[in-house]
Amino acid sequence: MRKRLRLGIMGGTFDPVHYGHLVAAEEALVQFNLDRVVFMPTGEPARKTHRVVSSAEHRYLMTVIATASNPDFAVSRMEVDRPGVTYTVDTMCELRSIHGPQAELFFITGADAILDILTWKDSDRLADVCTLIAATRPGYDLARFDQQPGAEGLRVEMMEVPALAISSTDIRGRVADRRPVRYLLPEAVAMYAHKNRLYGRET
Ligand code: ATP
Ligand code: MG
Repeated sequence: MRKRLRLGIMGGTFDPVHYGHLVAAEEALVQFNLDRVVFMPTGEPARKTHRVVSSAEHRYLMTVIATASNPDFAVSRMEVDRPGVTYTVDTMCELRSIHGPQAELFFITGADAILDILTWKDSDRLADVCTLIAATRPGYDLARFDQQPGAEGLRVEMMEVPALAISSTDIRGRVADRRPVRYLLPEAVAMYAHKNRLYGRET
């Protein structure tokens, strides 16, 4: 009998992708014995409308650059190519229909994202179609998740990862202020962002 596919999906804006994302994905790969982790950059973000987000194409390409050397990582254009506002639940349902009922799907998030997942569109349907993995992240208390109303029914696996207090918001601010970003994200991603002037003050 063929082994069931175990597929991890790492969703994010990735503006830009950084070592916090890569470490969480690598830990999920190993801790949950996944066949691969697919990074899924959002297209039109449903939730981050309060700031200008770099184009989906730039965010997609930075994610490709960051993951290129890892044979167990891939990047999907599914959300980037979908017109209109993106919902994770639609993506997971589409992956379910592509890979069939036998595949085991895992949606990987950080502690902050899992804490507001209950406010997402159809979070219970999302939890039906995949297993949610919540990675520890400095500054966010995973223990709070269980106490939230609505959390009881959701299957969430907690995952301890090496603590990296890195965020894309901080990196964008550092670039704008000309403070260092080296060692926070892959150098080639930083160079891509610089070359395309993604996070300068003027933008
Ligand atoms: P922003 O500051 O723009 O929100 P971010 O650093 O939070 O960027 P996202 O693209 O929003 O990055 O995150 C994608 C996913 O990765 C989310 O589930 C988030 O919780 C998780 N994540 C991001 N940074 C870390 C980190 N340092 N450790 C663990 N998980 C993280
Ligand atoms: Mg975030």
